Amino acid sequence: MKNFFNTDDILPKYDVVILGAGPAGCAAALYTARDDLSAIIFEKNYPGGNVAITEMVENYPGIDVGITGSDLANKFFSQAVKFGAQVRYGVCQKVELEDDYKIITLEDGRRVMAKALIIATGSRPKRINVPGEAKFIGRGVSFCATCDGGFFKDREVIVLGGGNSALEEGMYLTRFASKVTIIHRRDSFRASKIVQKRAFSNDRIKFIMDASVIEILGEEKLTGVKIRNAKTGEESVVNADGVFIFVGYDANTDTFKDLLELTPDGFIKAGETTETSVPGIFAAGDVRKKELMQIITAAADGAVAAKMAEKYVTEIDANER
Ligand code: NAP
Repeated sequence: MKNFFNTDDILPKYDVVILGAGPAGCAAALYTARDDLSAIIFEKNYPGGNVAITEMVENYPGIDVGITGSDLANKFFSQAVKFGAQVRYGVCQKVELEDDYKIITLEDGRRVMAKALIIATGSRPKRINVPGEAKFIGRGVSFCATCDGGFFKDREVIVLGGGNSALEEGMYLTRFASKVTIIHRRDSFRASKIVQKRAFSNDRIKFIMDASVIEILGEEKLTGVKIRNAKTGEESVVNADGVFIFVGYDANTDTFKDLLELTPDGFIKAGETTETSVPGIFAAGDVRKKELMQIITAAADGAVAAKMAEKYVTEIDANER
């Protein structure tokens, strides 16, 4: 993380600007650095993105013993820096086009020019938008088991969702909580079979299927949730001290919605080449609509985007000569 907050050395012009320092952004920076392009990543939180708050990663090829998300995030970051990538804190507020250049305006008003832009801004946990959710965020409602699990030692928690995140993070929470109840809106999970098998064999996890949470309950303190059965319509209350929500992700595309073509659910439209609707702007990682959202596919996107950016920069340089 050395130099991350030193923004004095940001240059006015780069070959490539990369937004986001998750697996996609770090891979893009590694590849652009090795191609000897001038490039910078701007990251508005902490390097690593959602990986940094994942408890354990077991399916990244080559790391057969598994690795904590924060360790893997650090490796992505330090490998990019080792090969010369500049990774700096910065919040992109606006992107404008000026001839072949992309002008990135940062929160502090600084403007940075780039020949190519790689958007790797990832995604954020989706909310369920029911009464009580906003009120209890940070006070019983959480989107991160690694961050908040320790607060629920010997207490009862509810996990919402039926994907890999819900089941994996639910299993992780059994280290602390006396009871974990996973509530899912359908009668089958979309999590991978190996993850389902492990979760089903964990006797500290209870499952409530075919149920939607319609309210998060509590006056001062969170006390539980009200659920409605999808088949019978029957409503009931499940008591708990905490609610962990893992119902998918929304893409971080607000800044680009007037610039790029997005899918109806807000992801950037770009194919396997990562090319977006604007020449010279590439989308990599979870922000790009694709079949499989994984760390490995995000990293692969970053490498492809860097290669495409390098081709684009070479064309611009040739035209300018
Ligand atoms: P996900 O796979 O999109 O699953 C979201 C779950 O939440 C689904 O079961 C969905 O139900 C449910 N859901 C969605 N909106 C809801 C709502 N408003 N109320 C109640 N339930 C709702 O999301 P994820 O588990 O966060 O995973 C995201 C991506 O990361 C996936 O591609 C996943 O494979 C990947 N991931 C991989 C790993 C791994 O490989 N180890 C670990 C974590 C995540 P329905 O099924 O009914 O739609």
